[in-house]
Amino acid sequence: MLDLIIQGGAVVTPQTVAKLDVGISGEQIVAVGQPGTLNAVAGRVIDATGKIVLPGGIEPHAHIGIPVPPDWTGQADVMTQPPEAASRAAAFGGVTTILDFTGDLSRKALRGEQRRPLLDVLERRRAIFRDHCYIDFAFHYILAGECGFESVGQIAEALQEGVGSFKIFTTTEVRIPYGHLWDIFSEVAKHGGIMAVHAEEDEVVSYMIEKLKREGRDQAHNMHLAHNNLSEDLAFRNIIRLAEHTNVGVYFVHTTAKEGVIAIDEARRRGQPVYGEALHHYLQFTCEDYKKPEGMTIHTYPALKFSDDRDALIDGLLDGRLCTTATDEYTTYKGPKLFGDRIESICGGHNGVETRIPVSFTKCVVERGMSLPRFADIIATNAAKILGLYPQKGAIQPGSDADIVLLDPNLVKTLALDDLHADSDYSIWEGFTCKGYPVMTILRGKVIVEDGKLVGSSTDGRWLKRKVAGDITSRPAV
Ligand SMILES: [Zn+2]
Repeated sequence: MLDLIIQGGAVVTPQTVAKLDVGISGEQIVAVGQPGTLNAVAGRVIDATGKIVLPGGIEPHAHIGIPVPPDWTGQADVMTQPPEAASRAAAFGGVTTILDFTGDLSRKALRGEQRRPLLDVLERRRAIFRDHCYIDFAFHYILAGECGFESVGQIAEALQEGVGSFKIFTTTEVRIPYGHLWDIFSEVAKHGGIMAVHAEEDEVVSYMIEKLKREGRDQAHNMHLAHNNLSEDLAFRNIIRLAEHTNVGVYFVHTTAKEGVIAIDEARRRGQPVYGEALHHYLQFTCEDYKKPEGMTIHTYPALKFSDDRDALIDGLLDGRLCTTATDEYTTYKGPKLFGDRIESICGGHNGVETRIPVSFTKCVVERGMSLPRFADIIATNAAKILGLYPQKGAIQPGSDADIVLLDPNLVKTLALDDLHADSDYSIWEGFTCKGYPVMTILRGKVIVEDGKLVGSSTDGRWLKRKVAGDITSRPAV
């Protein structure tokens, strides 16, 4: 007997979009068949008529329950929203897996004086999410600062444990010098992981900040002049070159400029395993919006750019040069978010995890005619493949976890703050009209959101062991 049958919906499988029935037993999908062929007695039958049945969303980039720098907020104790709140919002937005971060970012660690063992740091982070997360979770491991030989020596062990991906920055105090990066890339490549990279050219950004300060132009709305297109161009190309020398796969988080899209495309055409992510609010807003009242609420580092950059990101998602959508989820209240008013002091990030799927559906499928299989790729499948969760996650097919979102393409919803479930008092999406919206979320066979209610539990989420497939790290495989 099946525990659950979803019938009557347009099911997006890796092969097709068709009216199919999905059979679930326990936590897994066990059958996908023609309508009426799964007429076994089921514990529950969900009528998905008129809905699109998609793999549960995978959020590849979120910062949950971490301290916000006091020079951004004027307060010592501000944290981004905790796992309960973030994963609750995610569940309402059709997301069933979230990738957050772990790593030792203490001052001593950044100076290379004392660094906790990677597996200890990982376990502490898991303990924070365990029993406090409505959806499944995993962590990119951040290596930062004067990353010592000892940490590089522990990369193999961490990958063995199921870490899958390491994150590095090329700017700010967490920046890793190139020599260290060379060694880290080589080690990650050797043991089958992938690099997640925040790439900005530190020297360009810091020089421009000083220049703008000198000219009295360092107001926050000029953010894009410091975190600029040239910086992205140079940094992406340096990282791509280093990756070529070390045979490592690279996942560029938050591609923001047309230069980034072009650099990724050129690398992929040469056969390099390089993948790009676009944040969903970069598909809507530009640096012009920074100047509006409370316009800095939309700011997420590096910086929103111009309309041709926004168009390049959407085009990249449509034609395959970019692979994933993400949010860089970093939720605070509006007070701390808007406390700073300079390029160096404005708080980054926003509450985005809940809106990514409906906004991306509106921007890409409704406005630009993206196919539904491609849409499944950019909200779930590609992140699962690139970051080592496939085929357990990211597909509606027998053997995969029964993580499913039902999206109603006819539900038109102009967002108000009350529609959203983050632990916050503002939304940059207030007034945005979503044409299509998630109406049911299923995690490993268990309905966790239905009829606008959360029916899952914060003990439902599990840490996911990851292993990146060889084809992902050897060629541009998605
Ligand atoms: Zn981030």
